Amino acid sequence: MAQDKVTAEYGSLVFGDTDMRERLPKPTYKELSRVIRENKRIELDIANEVAHAMKEWALEHGATHFTHWFQPLNGITSEKHDSFLTPQDDGTILMAFSGKELVQGEPDASSFPNGGLRATFEARGYTVWDPMSPAFIKDEVLCIPTAFISYNGEALDKKTPLLRSEVALEKQAKRVLALFNGGEAPKRVVTNVGPEQEYFLIREEDFEARPDLRLCGRTLFGAEPAKGQELDEHYFGAIRPSVNAFMKELDDELWKLGIPAKTKHNEVAPCQHELAPVYEQGSLAIDNNLLTMEKLKLLATNYGLACLEHEKPFEYVNGSGKHDNWSLSADGENLLEPGKHPEDNIRFLVFLSFLIAAVDEHADLLRMSVASAGNDHRLGGNEAPPAVISVFLGDALSPVVKALIRKEHAETHEGPTMDLGVPALPDIRQDNTDRNRTSPFAFTGNKFEFRMPGSQQNLSDPNVIINTAVAEQCDRFCEYVAQYSDEDFMQVAERFVRHTLRDHQRIIFDGDGYSDDWKKEAEDRGLPNLMTTPETLAALLDRNNIEMFQKYEVLNEAECHARYVAKAEQYAKLINIEANTMVRMARHLYLPAIIAYSGDIATAVATKAELGVDATAEKELVKQLTQGSNAIYELTTELDKKNASARNVADPAKRDEEYRDQVLPAMAALRAAVDGMELICSKQCWPVPSYDDILFYV
Ligand code: ADP
Ligand code: MG
Repeated sequence: MAQDKVTAEYGSLVFGDTDMRERLPKPTYKELSRVIRENKRIELDIANEVAHAMKEWALEHGATHFTHWFQPLNGITSEKHDSFLTPQDDGTILMAFSGKELVQGEPDASSFPNGGLRATFEARGYTVWDPMSPAFIKDEVLCIPTAFISYNGEALDKKTPLLRSEVALEKQAKRVLALFNGGEAPKRVVTNVGPEQEYFLIREEDFEARPDLRLCGRTLFGAEPAKGQELDEHYFGAIRPSVNAFMKELDDELWKLGIPAKTKHNEVAPCQHELAPVYEQGSLAIDNNLLTMEKLKLLATNYGLACLEHEKPFEYVNGSGKHDNWSLSADGENLLEPGKHPEDNIRFLVFLSFLIAAVDEHADLLRMSVASAGNDHRLGGNEAPPAVISVFLGDALSPVVKALIRKEHAETHEGPTMDLGVPALPDIRQDNTDRNRTSPFAFTGNKFEFRMPGSQQNLSDPNVIINTAVAEQCDRFCEYVAQYSDEDFMQVAERFVRHTLRDHQRIIFDGDGYSDDWKKEAEDRGLPNLMTTPETLAALLDRNNIEMFQKYEVLNEAECHARYVAKAEQYAKLINIEANTMVRMARHLYLPAIIAYSGDIATAVATKAELGVDATAEKELVKQLTQGSNAIYELTTELDKKNASARNVADPAKRDEEYRDQVLPAMAALRAAVDGMELICSKQCWPVPSYDDILFYV
């Protein structure tokens, strides 16, 4: 059968199921499939055979090295390349790769953030093969997705707790489903995750000319551009040729890696774009998202572009998010599919109520999971969901839920058919959920969409919370049913749903999440409104939360604490770097430029005075520039001092507060002074490209 290029090349750089089937002895293939399917431990003899086949495949595809690919707590991916090369006694070499090398690595990983779990003298860490995520080739290196743990088995990465949370959720969900199915549980229950990735693409020369973009990923200065996103002309607009060429190569590369990139378009802000793949099993989707982020950055440079993945690269226009579309399925069947009559679909309502209760009970953890110095600039800014967490159900489900709580039966109807008044246009059916973009956690037809994560985020963090909190609800349901074992199961289940929805009604909100009224109402409902990262981190030290993580074996107390410390440190470190960058830019770039410019004009004033010519404008300008440069000088000194003093605070929580309450305002004041000068200085003297240049290039 003739194959098109895309079909032929799709997944060619991934050691996938077909390759395994073709290359492994039948019993080995069967055993490996079972390990993957049933999430079982792998034996060394099987690993040896898999390693051999994987190496042969990799060599045929031009690989010379292998690496364990992992996700330390700093959120990026890490790798250390080892060649397959093994010298022999006779002076020749062999390209070798053993089962042990496949299964376990031992990076000297003392300089990854670990939140105090390891001191440098006991720096040993292990990477452990995750057979559920296929190995792939990147730049002639065979990459093996792994989890990263300490000598004592504590999680040092983002992936380990994610995998553990998937195991916990699967186990608990199977118990629930067995109750619905006469005691028989499905073979597999997995999460489905579809991450929508937003990013900016700007010209590489502008990126290079701005130390703030290079060092911090976002602009720390920049006057408001003459034009912003108010004309709504960028969203879904025609894509620039250079960007289009980039997107094409990106698709090709992602497809070869077996990443199902599907949708691409321009986003709301100028220079902003989005890429969405088709959803996949949770941990695989997250691996693939990380790989996508790496490719975005690397490939952009082929087109003279720089890709910005920061949550808020520019003030005055939207920042970038990463919507986390989440659902749960059992042997391929989506448990969040309401069907035509959700009111009669008890199993769906049970799972819906799990989600609602999980979000309400652990809203603090969910909020924490998306907190970062960068995302703080985005949440609550009328461009992204507010910092208050609520659940949106929409027109189809809200009446069902309300009726259930009132012990009534709601009739649902299919969305009405809309006659568009033009005979040539076919009638369309209204979706059963509209799109409330202001809701942080929205039911969108057959999945939930968590919209708070920032574009830079590793989605493991929020998914660990969702998975574990839903596992807890599954468990609660089973206990409830056991308590009423003499009653009819369906009636017990319905009562469970009613009570759960009634007890967690406060989290359901379908209105405008951006409005001030909602902030007030949320407060009346007792919903937390945690505006900044330092306020959110205590959720990791909360007894209830730690007990949940321990009970479902996702994180132990030491791991929770380590994550708390690592996150707190990350916040302070990022702001410290930003403050340092601002001080240097002010002293090395802005002050010299403004002083030189005002000096030139002062000389002109003197010359004009000699000639007896009026110099009102020049004098006025020199005055303003001098005031400006004096202010910048003082504010820079002030920021430098405040940063130094925040840096010296020993306690991580207090240090973060100092950064938020002292350093961030000092940064804002310095920025305002510099941006004010940008508006009155000549274009020639200004030392960096402005927002107008960067965002509206031709
Ligand atoms: P929109 O911008 O309208 O939210 P997109 O098409 O950009 O939608 O992205 C939706 C994402 O949700 C895609 O990654 C898609 O594969 C994913 N998705 C669709 N159905 C499910 C599901 N049942 N579970 C998880 N993710 C899903
Ligand atoms: Mg979406």
